[in-house]
Amino acid sequence: MPAPLTPIESTPELPDRADVVVIGGGIIGVFTAYYLARRGMQVALIEKGRIGAEQSSRNWGWCRQQNRDARELPMATLALDLWERFAAETDEDTGFRRCGLLYLSNDDAELAGWSRWGEFARGVGVKTQMLSAAAAAEHGRVTGKPWKGGVFSPSDGTADPSRAASAVARAVMRLGGSVHQGCAARGIETEGGRLSAVVTERGTIRSRAAVLAGGAWASSFCSQQGIRFPQATIRQTVMAVAPGAVELPSTLHTAGISLTRRGDGGYLLAISGRARVDPTPQFLRFSPQFLPMFLRRWRSLSPGGLEGLRSGHESLARWRLDQPTPMERMRILDPKVDAATVRLTHRRALELVPALKERAVTAAWAGYIDSTPDGVPGIGETAALPGLVLAAGFSGHGFGIGPGAGHLIADIVSGATPIVDPRPYHPDRFHTSAWGKVAEF
Ligand SMILES: Cc1cc2nc3c(=O)[nH]c(=O)nc-3n(C[C@H](O)[C@H](O)[C@H](O)COP(=O)(O)OP(=O)(O)OC[C@H]3O[C@@H](n4cnc5c(N)ncnc54)[C@H](O)[C@@H]3O)c2cc1C
Repeated sequence: MPAPLTPIESTPELPDRADVVVIGGGIIGVFTAYYLARRGMQVALIEKGRIGAEQSSRNWGWCRQQNRDARELPMATLALDLWERFAAETDEDTGFRRCGLLYLSNDDAELAGWSRWGEFARGVGVKTQMLSAAAAAEHGRVTGKPWKGGVFSPSDGTADPSRAASAVARAVMRLGGSVHQGCAARGIETEGGRLSAVVTERGTIRSRAAVLAGGAWASSFCSQQGIRFPQATIRQTVMAVAPGAVELPSTLHTAGISLTRRGDGGYLLAISGRARVDPTPQFLRFSPQFLPMFLRRWRSLSPGGLEGLRSGHESLARWRLDQPTPMERMRILDPKVDAATVRLTHRRALELVPALKERAVTAAWAGYIDSTPDGVPGIGETAALPGLVLAAGFSGHGFGIGPGAGHLIADIVSGATPIVDPRPYHPDRFHTSAWGKVAEF
């Protein structure tokens, strides 16, 4: 069974004009469209497959400040408030709860790292508590194991990936925006060097502004416009088990395995960081820029196969605007599950929490996580094509910070005061420094 996803209806008619066209209906695109529509702007949200069907429904659902890179922390903090505010503003339920995130460890170096991060984070007002061995054993009593320590971040939480993006897209439509599924944006038209229209497979939408929130497809779309956006994807496999009788913590992270309660009461099981790298032409093009990232994470990465070539999202080929593009051949990026990872994940989960034995395995799926060389997203107007705002490369963190990122992107497009300092995210940094500081977590 694939990742569960709540379906929504599309707006029947494609408009021929919009104030802003948002390309990509993942969590970033829908929140961008939401904050634009709230300002009274006419927004058309274009999705080649289904709202939320790629990374945004396949993730763990963690919305965390804990262990965030300093460049992303302000946005992560604001995003938590915005998840709550969205529910109050719309009556839609994204499943967001401030359930707290629990980390346990027997590794002194890991604990020391969390402690250092905690000192820095408390200095900027973030709530995070280091746990002694006794407190860790109490928080992690479901494991029945001793722990050297841990950390609990009470104001962090989770949202439900199976319904969050759909809930936000429905809110966009209620605000007067239009949402078009099964509609790929093929390219951009320009006038006087500025974006003047977005060409889709169903027609052209005239607009002075567009946001490219295309997730794993952003780099290949950019290269059609002559814009260089270094991006790489890694394939992660996760699995789900059914609800059960024994009460488990809402979240639990250990080096070997992590658990997350899902909206249906079942649990998502996953091995943090473990992923396959599927070589593609785009991967070879940008690999020198990703060396520091891969060196930092090499222990958890292993070579994949031809999956990336088959998917077509990292092709370097040029496409025409009057013919079907790779995005229409691959409506939903649904990469192959890594069977060895599923077996290992389940074994580790049962070792950690024996009470999971009573729960049947209900699903396993994989997702391509799109990353930038420094692990921080690329958000900002492209110098090469005024009017086009890039918003991609969320590097495994985009779900939780989705509302904060969407707000910032809407600020940039509408010329409002940015909700957070946009400079750390601007994609120009990929041209000026070959190897930026890689995000630590
Ligand atoms: C296994 C896994 C676990 C993760 N865990 C977490 C977590 O716990 N917390 C967290 O914060 N993040 C997590 N992430 C990362 C998070 O899911 C992503 O960062 C986030 O969903 C990215 O959102 P997005 O909107 O940028 O991309 P996506 O959700 O991938 O959406 C992009 C959309 O754009 C569409 N598109 C692309 N090109 C076009 C085009 N030309 N025309 C029309 N449509 C187009 C695609 O079809 C797609 O639907 C995880 C990811 C995975 C895979």
